[in-house]
Amino acid sequence: MDSTYTNIIKNAYREISLLENKGKVATYIPELANVDDAMFGVHITRLDGAEFGMGNNLEKFSIQSIAKVLSLTMAYKIMGERIWSRVDVEPSGTKFDSLLLLETYHGIPRNPFINSGALVVCDILISHLDNAREEFLDFVRALSDMPHLNYSDKIADSEKAHGYRNTALCNFIKSFGNIENEPAEVLDFYFDMCSLEMNCQQLSKTFTFLANGGHKIIDNKKIISKSNSKRINALMLTCGFYDESGEFAFKVGLPGKSGVGGGIVALYPGNYAIAVWSPKLNPNGNSFKGMKLLETITTHSELSIF
Ligand code: GLN
Repeated sequence: MDSTYTNIIKNAYREISLLENKGKVATYIPELANVDDAMFGVHITRLDGAEFGMGNNLEKFSIQSIAKVLSLTMAYKIMGERIWSRVDVEPSGTKFDSLLLLETYHGIPRNPFINSGALVVCDILISHLDNAREEFLDFVRALSDMPHLNYSDKIADSEKAHGYRNTALCNFIKSFGNIENEPAEVLDFYFDMCSLEMNCQQLSKTFTFLANGGHKIIDNKKIISKSNSKRINALMLTCGFYDESGEFAFKVGLPGKSGVGGGIVALYPGNYAIAVWSPKLNPNGNSFKGMKLLETITTHSELSIF
């Protein structure tokens, strides 16, 4: 990794480490609150394979909603453009778990990255696969070349025991006919998918395919077409941070996706994927320090898709 990148990341990491962390760890999934909230990691992987990480970059965490990009990738491969009749491609301007717009749009979620949209994507995978839970994990393991990646039963069980809003969302969408399977089955798979664990290094490596026109960087194997990868990136840019997507585009200028575990992955097409992790979240449910770190890195590097 050339020193321009490493110096920018080192300086940005130091600067943001000193900031008072005004965020709060998510507690609505009780198990997530058991994390050490001082954790702070960053890892960048370039398309030529060069990489650099700092802090708690090798400590695994619950990637939560970041996994929605991977489930969408799998469902998009299966359904092609027909998928957009089940879930739309518009920013929601609401919180990730909002029920609000489902009534207005008759059970068609605004996009695949809010919970309602991700539940529909899970329903699609269940309908098309023999065992969605296993096959999704196999897909992610093959995509990342990391055969040991796994779900966390502890986190999934904890979310399941308190997942009243997601249960409401899933039943509500079912009432409009946009969930084909039993809500309990869809929710079980959704909670498992969200409980996937990775560290910043693994996350940045896994997402390089979206910076590389849909192809893996290791063997150039095609995961999805260039056009589909462009569309997933467009969705990450416009919807990846819920009601803070505009701000992320404005301040960071890259497609990205956050998770309530405090992780964020972002990518610069043709260049790199970067993952950050700090568990305390801002009021929009996005990592407080993670957002600031990415903003500082892209400001100092003067590189963004704009
Ligand atoms: N599993 C979480 C939920 O459904 C995912 C939300 C997130 O990461 N923003 O609430």
